This record gives sequence, structure tokens and C-alpha cells, in this order.
Amino acid sequence: MNSENLFEKLGAVLEPDILVPISDLGMLSQLSRRLSKYSVELFAYPAPAGYFDSLILKLEAAAAQEGVKLEINLKEMSEDQLAELESHLENLTLEAVPGGTDRVNRLMAAGTKTRILGFSSGKGGVGKSSVTVGIATALARRGHRVGILDADVYGFSIPKMLGIQRPPAVIGKVMVPPVAYGIKTMSVGYFVSDDTPVIWRGPMLHKALEQFLVDVYWGDIEYLCVDLPPGTGDVTLSLAEYLPKIETFVVTTPQDAAERVAQRSALAARKLKLPLRGVIENMSYFRGDDAKRYDIFGRGGGEKLAKSLNVPLLGSIPIDIPLREGGDVGEPVVMAQPESEVSVEFMRIAQVIEAMGPARIYKAELKVR
Ligand code: ADP
Repeated sequence: MNSENLFEKLGAVLEPDILVPISDLGMLSQLSRRLSKYSVELFAYPAPAGYFDSLILKLEAAAAQEGVKLEINLKEMSEDQLAELESHLENLTLEAVPGGTDRVNRLMAAGTKTRILGFSSGKGGVGKSSVTVGIATALARRGHRVGILDADVYGFSIPKMLGIQRPPAVIGKVMVPPVAYGIKTMSVGYFVSDDTPVIWRGPMLHKALEQFLVDVYWGDIEYLCVDLPPGTGDVTLSLAEYLPKIETFVVTTPQDAAERVAQRSALAARKLKLPLRGVIENMSYFRGDDAKRYDIFGRGGGEKLAKSLNVPLLGSIPIDIPLREGGDVGEPVVMAQPESEVSVEFMRIAQVIEAMGPARIYKAELKVR
């Protein structure tokens, strides 16, 4: 192995949260060699202790693959290095508005290719967050670049479901969403502890959501899955303002009552002129050891709701114990048990969503009279 190849290989390792080769981020020094021993400096931006542990492990593993034992010295970036990284990351995050001097987050730029999928439900507890994670992980397994925005500000659960315990790094003006299973994630949960009630109201909430969109490095994700709060509240209204292209999916259970409450949230989305793309039924049945389907929460709610809203029923997710356990320990079922019935259904729904393509948005002002 010559040192040039090794250097290239190390430089190509992706920064675990920015998901860009570390050599492009100016994080790697030249290799030095003393007899048969190599060493390198890893330049770190300010981050909590332990933040770069996984990166160091990855670099060691890359060197070990080449049969080299590598010494890695973690060093703080100089002011100049940091300023360069900050401006690089800002350029990756923001895009110039045509004809102006302003810049906007790439996610919100007029020509963005990112599809924004919002998952809503009439009430809590129907499994909206589990479905958001299920679809996001399925899209990621299908090879897409994916992000999750946990907009369920009062009942955030995404960090736990993905097993993320570290807060986002802040580099200059940009927040870097923690990545798990290849998925970039942003949540209120990173900023408040589990037992702190969130009592934000209108303007503050609006501001927080704005920050999650404007100041966050989402990179070039193809899908942003948004876990919307249950009901028909302020958050959806705020988000619709920032993300007018948000496509909504309604999650319900087969129970008649749940279906009727879900209808209200769907109609609220329609009122905001958000394209409603389909219904996903959750907790549809339980498959017993005897291979029989048991309709624990009744039958037909999803179908009925889809019909009344005139959108397709995209799929039915069974009640699944590994799904619940995986959510509790941060191991999404689609990643941990990809062959299971529930994972296969998530993969199938993800494929359907992919095949649907983005919603066409008809703006009233563009109408031909
Ligand atoms: P919501 O976001 O609608 O409040 P969650 O996704 O947080 O709902 O789900 C509520 C609880 O139900 C969680 O403990 C979750 O693990 C569990 N759950 C959701 N969907 C299923 C399912 N299909 N099978 C088993 N447990 C589920």
C-alpha cells in the first residue's frame, strides 16, 4: 500500500453527520510516516466530547483494511480552517434566489427536487411516528437520500425511535442534523429533555420550525419525511407556509372512530391546499403464530377513509411486536428485520410513493381563464 492511496482512501471516508468526504471538509492533514507507522491529524470543528469517536473508528477501520495501523490525532481546527468549513457548509446549505441577493435553504428553493412527505393523523397514538420512520427507513433502504423532520413538537419521538442521543452540531450559522441509518434527522427532542413539557406557542413554535428548515444543512436529500403533530393545529399551518409543496399522507387505524377523526385532519390539509396523496392504515391486523389474521381494531377504516377522501389506500401495516420494540430501543424494524411482513409492507408502500412522483401543484393564479 503506498501512502498516496491510503491518504485518498482516508479522505474519502464520509463525515458521519455531514455525509461529505472529510477531505472536502478540510478535516484531514497529510499523512506522515515513520518507518512502517503512519499517523494523521484529524481536524475537528467544535463539538461535544466523543462526537468524533465514530469517525475515528471508521478511519482506523479503513486503514486496517489496507493492513496499516494508523495513529489518529484529534486536533481543533484553527480559526481559518473553521471559517473555511463554515462558508463551505453554508454554500452547501443555501442557494441564491434567482435575480436577487438573498439566499434560501436548498430545501425551500423554488426548483428543489426534494419531495416533502408529511404524515398526519387525527389523534395521537395511532402510530403516525412509527409509520413516518417505517417509510423513511424503507426509502433509505431503496437507496434514497432521506431526512426526517420531527415536527410533532409536543410529542417528539423520532430521536428515540432512531436511537440518537447526540445533539446537532452547530457550525457557524448552520445546524448539522444527526444521522442514523443514513437518515438526517431534526427534532425538538434534541433541545429539550424528555421530561420537560414543551409549552411553546404560536410565534415561538413558528420560529423553531423556521430554524429547522432555514438553518439546517439538509444536503441534497431526495425525500424529507415530516412527522406532523396530530390534529389540525398551528404547526401544519406554519409548515405549509415554508413548504408549500408538502404532500400529505393520513395515518389511521381500522377503527371507525379513528377514521372519522383522521378525516378532520385530512380536510384541514385540503383547506391549506396541501396535496393529499393517500391513506396508510396502521395496526390493521395481528398475525398470530397460527398464521391467521386477527382484526384486533376492527376492519375497513382505512379503506373507508380513502374512499371518502378520494385518494388511494396505500397499504396496511400489521400490529407487530418487533416494530414496537424496535421503536423503544432505536432499531427501526425495516433495518433490523427487513424480511418481516411489516417491513415488506413498508418497502412496498415506499415503492408506491416513489412511483407516484411528486404532486402537481395547481396554483390558482396560474389558471387559464
Ligand atoms: P403516534 O405518533 O401516532 O402518537 P407512535 O408511532 O408513537 O404513534 O405509536 C404509539 C405506540 O404504538 C408506540 O409505542 C409504537 O411503538 C406503537 N405502535 C405503533 N404502530 C404499531 C404497530 N403497527 N405494531 C405495534 N406497535 C405499534
